[in-house]
Amino acid sequence: DSGAHVPALVVGTGYGGSVAALRLAQAGVDVHMIEMGMAWDTPGSDGKIFANTTSPDVRSYWLRTRTKQPISNFLGYPLDKDVPRHTGILDAEEMGQIIVYQGRGVGGGSLVNGGMAVTPRRENFGAILPSVDAAEMYGTYYPRANATLGVGTVDPAWFESADCYQFARVGRKHAERSGFPFVFVPDVYDWDYMEKEAAGTVPRSALAGEILYGNNYGKKSLQKTYLAQAGATGKVAISPLHKVTSVAPAAGGGYTVVIDQIDTTGTTTATKTVTADKVFFAAGSVGTSKLLVQLKATGALPALNAEIGKGWGDNGNVMCGRANHMWDPTGKLQASIPCGGIDNWTAGGAFAEVAPLPTGIETYASFYLSITNTPHRAEFTWNPQTGRADLNWQTAWKQTSVDMARTIFDKINAKEGTIYRTDLFGAYKIWGDHLTYHPLGGAVLDKATDNYGRLHGYAGLYVIDGSLIPGNTSVNPFVTITALAERNIEKIIATDL
Ligand code: FAD
Repeated sequence: DSGAHVPALVVGTGYGGSVAALRLAQAGVDVHMIEMGMAWDTPGSDGKIFANTTSPDVRSYWLRTRTKQPISNFLGYPLDKDVPRHTGILDAEEMGQIIVYQGRGVGGGSLVNGGMAVTPRRENFGAILPSVDAAEMYGTYYPRANATLGVGTVDPAWFESADCYQFARVGRKHAERSGFPFVFVPDVYDWDYMEKEAAGTVPRSALAGEILYGNNYGKKSLQKTYLAQAGATGKVAISPLHKVTSVAPAAGGGYTVVIDQIDTTGTTTATKTVTADKVFFAAGSVGTSKLLVQLKATGALPALNAEIGKGWGDNGNVMCGRANHMWDPTGKLQASIPCGGIDNWTAGGAFAEVAPLPTGIETYASFYLSITNTPHRAEFTWNPQTGRADLNWQTAWKQTSVDMARTIFDKINAKEGTIYRTDLFGAYKIWGDHLTYHPLGGAVLDKATDNYGRLHGYAGLYVIDGSLIPGNTSVNPFVTITALAERNIEKIIATDL
């Protein structure tokens, strides 16, 4: 409520925010989490909390009147359709020349993502977070993050026989025939549950094509892991449909935080002002970066340093599909949870997930999301004319990523005598180069903050989410975001409380 005072306020309930809340609560601190999205704890009229990928509805998109599906077309037909404006779960946020997909709601990105929980290869870690002690990360914090997130890997024997992974076995065959290693990718999906889905003994989730708009069963989102543990301490409160709009030093010490309460159409219904001794920015790379460049430029936090807004990258994301021959069907039943990837990072700068296309029909298509070693970094700046933060990313920069992904797929196509699909992203467009699922950076560790996420210029203000990571993790990012948050909050609890 307005006028309240809280010891620790956390902006956002994704990975970084959930780690901060749990560990602070375990250390005896009362925590209040502010989340602009919905709670996602109440079933809709179909009895389910989350909508299916095959039929997006009012629950699916954040304040849009038309869906913005990552794969926009299929066999010449546009897939998007009108939906009522609603505080739905997936934000397709248009930031200049890139669409940044993000989760909205209690659990952040864990609500919408594929759950792929990948620890980078240790030899790549120095390029990811050069100021961080890798021995500590691989000895303590990655294991802690993986254990608390509930990471597991598909049973290799079951994988060989499961109809729903025909697409992945075809992906493996094509990778290996071209000399690329295929590696199993761990995931937070409950693999025992998936085997039961295949056996027909439980309601289907991954095998019903659920992904992007939430998973009703099976996926261990943060609501089931970190946030459940945080709630059990009795010391963590969460306010959904509340958006932080300002943080500034308070007269009597600590910080004044201004929060808009919104309804499910996105309209502000109340504005509240509270004070907090400590504020943790965990609004995600885009959310935290936008807020910090605004607060610095508009005079709320003028002493933030010149690194604020810098070092933003797309993790080199680029998508593509290949059209297989009739003798290589990928299966009409596809698990929505990927379980393997093609590793050509060292030689070609690309790690490609073999991704599903869960359409319910045989498509003879192989689909991939590549993570590439892009050198490009963009910057957020405050635009006083529009009153918004701009991002100077350029679509043309994706060419570097396309070239890296082609080190894998040009070779596979040549070997298999196959071609790229040209129908998935609009007419005659091969590459999904207009988007990212993996925004990273904007308040980079050891630059905008000290080596533990303490913002320069203001004692008691911290960044603890994906904005700390300078644009690339070489693999899917959330395990690294979680492990880094575990490392930083341990230090902050030991020295700042
Ligand atoms: P987020 O998880 O983005 O959490 C930030 C939260 O803050 C959000 O809930 C947001 O609503 C809230 N917020 C923002 N601004 C405000 C504000 N002003 N006030 C209050 N609340 C605010 N990563 C992987 O590792 N593996 C995958 O398989 C994978 N698949 C993905 C698939 C999709 C479709 C998407 C979109 C992402 C995927 N990712 C994946 C990326 C991963 O989900 C993100 O890297 C991760 O969620 C980022 O964590 P975070 O803590 O930085 O912030």
